[in-house]
Amino acid sequence: ETVLKLDGVQRRYNAGSRAEVAVLRGVSLTLVPGELIALVAPSGAGKSTLLHIAGLLDRPDDGTVHIAGQNVAGLSEAARTTLRRDTVGFVYQFHHLLPEFSALENVMLPQRAKGTSVAAATDRAVGLLDRVGLSARASHRPAALSGGEQQRVAFCRALANGPKLLLADEPTGNLDPDTAEQVFSALVDVARETGLAGLVATHNPALAARMDRQVRLEGGYLVPA
Ligand code: ADP
Ligand code: ADP
Repeated sequence: ETVLKLDGVQRRYNAGSRAEVAVLRGVSLTLVPGELIALVAPSGAGKSTLLHIAGLLDRPDDGTVHIAGQNVAGLSEAARTTLRRDTVGFVYQFHHLLPEFSALENVMLPQRAKGTSVAAATDRAVGLLDRVGLSARASHRPAALSGGEQQRVAFCRALANGPKLLLADEPTGNLDPDTAEQVFSALVDVARETGLAGLVATHNPALAARMDRQVRLEGGYLVPA
């Protein structure tokens, strides 16, 4: 069983014009449950493009994308949205938490949007925050939390609907090394416990080295790093 399977994925921008740029030329990658892969890419290499395609936010020009065994090519926009919501979690360098809501409420939101009851969403959010050591901070708004705490809340929010795949874009990029280590350890623990698979873009070699595998995006292809 694969969580994510990319086969020969191509993506170019401004096709047919003089500004055409082939960002992904033939990207193939397989992730199985519980596997953590570090994605290393110099700026401009196409990291965001790749993560957006893997997360069903963008479509390839050529090649195929399977999520949880399903070829997504034939899916309607609505079906893609549902599959994204139920299967994929996103974490970015900046947390994008809603400032007027508490940590707990931020983690509850994706579940409420899906129609989960308040009671069940609360239970799950409490459990997730507990797992990353934030029980005592659940009622705080993001502004009252440290950078590392904010990223851990964002991580819990990404996990709220029980995704199989976590896509993370420099999730510890704006944290000091100790805090980055803390957030990253929470991520690794959860993946090991739950079978969550993760594709984690990072510039931090020490963190990348702790993943199962490292791949580098280079000239439009993925190569072992
Ligand atoms: P990274 O995340 O690795 O910095 P991106 O995937 O954002 O790279 O972009 C890769 C390349 O594609 C860059 O040269 C960028 O300028 C270009 N690019 C990204 N998005 C677009 C777009 N919508 N239209 C045209 N060019 C784009
Ligand atoms: P960063 O600058 O840290 O990369 P952004 O402000 O670009 O963070 O993060 C917002 C990103 O979220 C955008 O790249 C956008 O394409 C992406 N995005 C758009 N729709 C969704 C969605 N439904 N779920 C998650 N991310 C989304």
